Amino acid sequence: MSKIRVRFAPSPTGPLHIGGLRTALYNYLFAKSLGGSFILRVEDTDRTRYVPGAEQYILDALKWSGIKIDEGGNAGGLLGPYKQSERLSIYRSKAENLVNKGWAYYAFDTEEELEQMRAERTAAGEHSPRYNYSIREKMSTSLNLSAEEVQQRKESGQPWVIRFKTPENGSVVFEDLIRGEIRFECDQLDDKVLLKSDGWPTYHLANVVDDQYMQISHVIRGEEWLSSTALHVLLYKAFGWEKDMPQFAHLPLILKPEGKGKLSKRDGARLGMPVFPMEWKEPDTGDLFLGFKEMGFLPEAMINFIALLGWNPGIEQEIFSMEDLVEKFSIEKVGKAGARFDFDKAKWFNQQYIQRLTADELAMAVAPFYEKSGIILDDKKLIQVCNLMKERIQLLSEMPEKSRFFFSDDFEMDTKQLKKRWKDDSEGILTDLLEILSCLENFKTDEIESAVKSFISEKGLSFGKVLPLLRLASSGTMQGPDLFPTLEILGSEKVVERITNLIKMDKN
Ligand code: GLU
Repeated sequence: MSKIRVRFAPSPTGPLHIGGLRTALYNYLFAKSLGGSFILRVEDTDRTRYVPGAEQYILDALKWSGIKIDEGGNAGGLLGPYKQSERLSIYRSKAENLVNKGWAYYAFDTEEELEQMRAERTAAGEHSPRYNYSIREKMSTSLNLSAEEVQQRKESGQPWVIRFKTPENGSVVFEDLIRGEIRFECDQLDDKVLLKSDGWPTYHLANVVDDQYMQISHVIRGEEWLSSTALHVLLYKAFGWEKDMPQFAHLPLILKPEGKGKLSKRDGARLGMPVFPMEWKEPDTGDLFLGFKEMGFLPEAMINFIALLGWNPGIEQEIFSMEDLVEKFSIEKVGKAGARFDFDKAKWFNQQYIQRLTADELAMAVAPFYEKSGIILDDKKLIQVCNLMKERIQLLSEMPEKSRFFFSDDFEMDTKQLKKRWKDDSEGILTDLLEILSCLENFKTDEIESAVKSFISEKGLSFGKVLPLLRLASSGTMQGPDLFPTLEILGSEKVVERITNLIKMDKN
């Protein structure tokens, strides 16, 4: 087999959506699993939809996700430039080449003429009038006008486009690696514009020319491009590149959590979940969308989650590192049916990955979240806290609030619980405990635990009477991590201070 070369070809019209990231990931996994190359090509030919910052966002998001680019982006490469706006002369000459071969033609129609044509045909009963064989010779095209007139119109500066001359009959058939045989009837296709009046190519022309020049072996992209593939296959034929035509694979949609309809940016806002890998600020409106990163995901967990949105390895294993994915991925196991975006599952993956971190690694990962929360950190304590809390969080962003009481006295008391747990003998119990704990020689988990438990049994008390009081005193909540290690981390002085405070506190 010739060399595997795939490309991820985003248009910088906004941030990379989670569906786009999955396309990049599947391309990457496919290439890496077969020893091939992953190429990034920026398709920036639609200047009206160009969004400043989007290109950098795509590079940053791929980097954070652990998807490494072999060619394009900052990696360079021999078959560049990898940005379409830097390849304009190639497209123009290729489009003219098709005109010369009789596969395309110049069209001079003005907006008004096009409007009129559509109106007339609609009035004649056509549902959605096409610009195709039935009309092209009646319009202002080089198929209709004399060579001199074409020349003269071009020289006079009249705007023109180049359209593809779709065959009148026959069908386009190709094999999709996910969907099997796909067939389109030519008479159902439009003569699409290849080169626009501003001299820029359309997506179709630039995409096919670049896939050929960049020696792309497989085109793996979203389902929404399936219908364009008919024209692309015809273009390969028209250029005489049929034998180099890449194989196609069209990925299933990512569906809303409810399971119906395509996941959109609005679903993210509506359901408080991220649909972008990283934060994105809309340049026009200033609207801010948090990404997986800011919501507290580890990139490995996000990748594991999205890898399984459409790809089903058919085994029980659910946790896949990037290396595992590279090893196990196969395009044949990608399904046709849409994959539901289940945010709870995403959080479950994150929890699994958090639990696998060492305390030091977790401390590094959560530090930026503490910084945002304004909590002043003590590094040694943070590592101890991470060790203790690792099992109790799903998102890195939960850490600061859930552990505030370790670092600051400014934490909330669950007064409802306090009222419920505070009994006539509570003050006496805490006073005794103060005495016991302040005399402990070694303020370590085991010692604290045995001292408290001996006290409980000597006094004939129950755990339920004593431990909640200690919990509330030290952390203000009944939901905190294990009590005795918590007390050790806080240290004897702090624990004594907090028990004293609780005794003094107004309970009503
Ligand atoms: N520029 C297209 C996009 O934004 C690329 C589609 C393709 O991969 O052919 O998704």
